Amino acid sequence: MMSVLSKLKGKTIVLGLATALATVAVCPAFASEATTTIEVADSFEVAVNDIIDGVDGKERVVSSFDDGRYATVSLKDAVNPSTCPHTEIMGMGKKYQQKVSFNKSDSTYCYKYRYWEEGRCVRCGKQGFKIYDASWTNVKHKYKLFGNTCTECGYVK
Ligand SMILES: [Zn+2]
Ligand SMILES: [Zn+2]
Repeated sequence: MMSVLSKLKGKTIVLGLATALATVAVCPAFASEATTTIEVADSFEVAVNDIIDGVDGKERVVSSFDDGRYATVSLKDAVNPSTCPHTEIMGMGKKYQQKVSFNKSDSTYCYKYRYWEEGRCVRCGKQGFKIYDASWTNVKHKYKLFGNTCTECGYVK
């Protein structure tokens, strides 16, 4: 577990900064005036056994990390008796993006994304866990020059 933590040290600092920015971004006025992509912390604190919307539908939180990341198992998998009872999950290195559209409900932002990584149990090697980053990054709508329709989602200014 120590080696996992030390490997993640650099990452933790980046996330810490993101969280600091996020606290400012909660104010809607600030968000609409921002000119660059900003991080937000709509990544509420999660607890073990919480059910979250993951890339695999509903997922149950099995453990959380000091830096706010947390590991989940798909609910489909959670009812499987062969699921391991351990909670020491480590990342397998490859990062993916989870992207969630605002479905044109936001005048500034088009979609948000966060990174997740496949995880496996440190003790028994079981795979199929996902480790989610704590914070999301909001991305603004994209318009062509003089255009008023977002080229990404179709939102009209
Ligand atoms: Zn858009
Ligand atoms: Zn295990």
